[in-house]
Amino acid sequence: MGVEQQYERIKAEFRQEFGTSIDFLRDAAVYQTPLYEFLRRMPKGADLHAHADAILPMAEQVSFLSDHPELVITPQWQIHYSGLGAPYGSRTMAECLADGLTVEDFRREWTVAGAPRGSYVWDWFEGIFTKCGAICTTPSLVQDYYTRVMLYYHSIGVEYLELRVPFFGSREDALARGRAFLAALQDVRKTDPHFMLGLVACGGKNDVWDPLFDILMDNAMYVRDNVLDGGRPLVVAIDIVNDEDRSYSLARYEERVRQIVASHPGLRLTLHAGESLRGENREIEIALRCGIDRLGHGFNLYRYPELQREVLQKGICLEVCPVSNAALGYCADFSNHPADGFRRAGIPVVICSDDPAYQAHSVLVGDYLAVAAGWDLTLEELRVLCRSGIEHSFLPAPQKAALLAKWEEDWREFAA
Ligand SMILES: [Zn+2]
Repeated sequence: MGVEQQYERIKAEFRQEFGTSIDFLRDAAVYQTPLYEFLRRMPKGADLHAHADAILPMAEQVSFLSDHPELVITPQWQIHYSGLGAPYGSRTMAECLADGLTVEDFRREWTVAGAPRGSYVWDWFEGIFTKCGAICTTPSLVQDYYTRVMLYYHSIGVEYLELRVPFFGSREDALARGRAFLAALQDVRKTDPHFMLGLVACGGKNDVWDPLFDILMDNAMYVRDNVLDGGRPLVVAIDIVNDEDRSYSLARYEERVRQIVASHPGLRLTLHAGESLRGENREIEIALRCGIDRLGHGFNLYRYPELQREVLQKGICLEVCPVSNAALGYCADFSNHPADGFRRAGIPVVICSDDPAYQAHSVLVGDYLAVAAGWDLTLEELRVLCRSGIEHSFLPAPQKAALLAKWEEDWREFAA
């Protein structure tokens, strides 16, 4: 049986058993299916939308913490750097495990599965970032965490990660963090010489992040100028994040965003916009005015046919994160996910993971599973999505061509 027939058979079996509404945190059986295994092995090219430091699946995160006794967990489940006066009752991960806590306990506290029923899931979700925010407190922790992250991506057929990162602290703090990402990349290249990393520097638009916006952007541009991977700036783009239904509008940042992009030749722009079910959310319109190269989510674009025409005509690529959309309550049944319609209309779409550590048991494979089953994709349609990840990346042309050639070869081998 050819690969295509094999894929069609295991996809049909999957759809029969699980349907197209999949809960990636509660239904562990999906990870044991032949379709999951097929998609895990599939050369996926790139992940263009994933946030620091929410990548490693819980079992890996627990093992990372076990290897770092300088990090402790407080009685409120907050990760804390032990050197800074950790609260009474804090324990290292090794101590937690010895006391009988399991990966499941951490999964309940540190993923959206633990959100109280009937609550607004974003409250719990943002709380996880607060609890786990200190996991990469120092440059050496950044280096180890992202070495593991990139090796994980390598193991699932991803060769390029574009990671959303905020650069908090002073310029020197930001520079040290940027250099730690580069050191991690160099570590990973000992295993996979082709692996590439790009950083999308993030600002934020809620009450906590907003006062820091200019500092975060200034730090990001300092890192862009000073952290180079063979002459190529590691910081490739900027973005502004947070729950759109409760944050300031992008309009507040429009002028500054335009100015930053105009004064940094080659810097690209991708903005979170349209991650909402509300009709009054017109963030996509503002994102287009800002001059975006790509659009983060763009979920509610279906509400605005005139904007959909503009996105199509400009060839703007949508970063679609299906598992995240389900976890945060935007879409329960993947067969109803609006991005299938955008894709069919000819808008470029890439499949991305968003915050896998807090939303699933694995990274990116579930997102492909959601659309393979939900959109009933053919193998050829999956190939187009994977290829898009490299085509619409913010890599410079020579690196993009090299990665594309490598991916073509990997795909030929996979589909043979
Ligand atoms: Zn995101």
